[in-house]
Amino acid sequence: ALTGCNKKEDVLVVGTNAAFPPFEYIGGASGDEIKGFDIDIVKQIAEDSGKTLKVENMKFDSLIVALNSGKIDMIAAGMTITPERQASVAFSDPYYEATQVVITQKQDDQIHSVDDLKGKHFAVQLGSTGDIMAKTFTEQVTAFNTGFEAMMELKNGKVDLVLFDSEPAANHLQKNPNLKLQKLNFDPEYYGLAVSKDNPELLKQVNASLDAMKSNGSYDALITKYMK
Ligand code: GLN
Repeated sequence: ALTGCNKKEDVLVVGTNAAFPPFEYIGGASGDEIKGFDIDIVKQIAEDSGKTLKVENMKFDSLIVALNSGKIDMIAAGMTITPERQASVAFSDPYYEATQVVITQKQDDQIHSVDDLKGKHFAVQLGSTGDIMAKTFTEQVTAFNTGFEAMMELKNGKVDLVLFDSEPAANHLQKNPNLKLQKLNFDPEYYGLAVSKDNPELLKQVNASLDAMKSNGSYDALITKYMK
């Protein structure tokens, strides 16, 4: 049996996909640390519940399976709360409002409305809300394990556009002056932390920590620290 401070119940294992800046990304002095807005939030949740935080980096597409098989206790991955996902996991109260955005090459002036997206070749992140939405416009959707790879495909001229979450898209645009944001108004999406439906105790703790962070100013401090 495990003893001391490493007993399973003393550790909060959080799964993420650390390719979604500024919510989660690889960085730090050593260049191999997982950092970001979501990571700071789960650090606080671990502290509030007296647990040691362990962050596991995995494919976005495998997070829900990992949660439901008990490999991880929580998902913190800028994950949008959707009815389909709510069928298999329990989401916290929403903690961030986002939207999908369209990114193209800078010289592309063909996109003025959502109708102009029909028949275009999209690059997306596998299993993301962008992936699901892209399929409503076209059958030409190439899905990658990270948004970064989708952006690369666009940069290399292999696809017409990328459909991705607003804040990570802004992050990529800053580093890629040859790409641009197309102004289209999609519905808002709300990010939630996800836990197993069998863990209502943890869900309560998560929502209590989120509430406290919102009322004591630390949530706003994180927004200032991470958002453009
Ligand atoms: N918010 C999007 C989703 O839930 C993308 C999240 C991500 O790529 N990490 O599908």
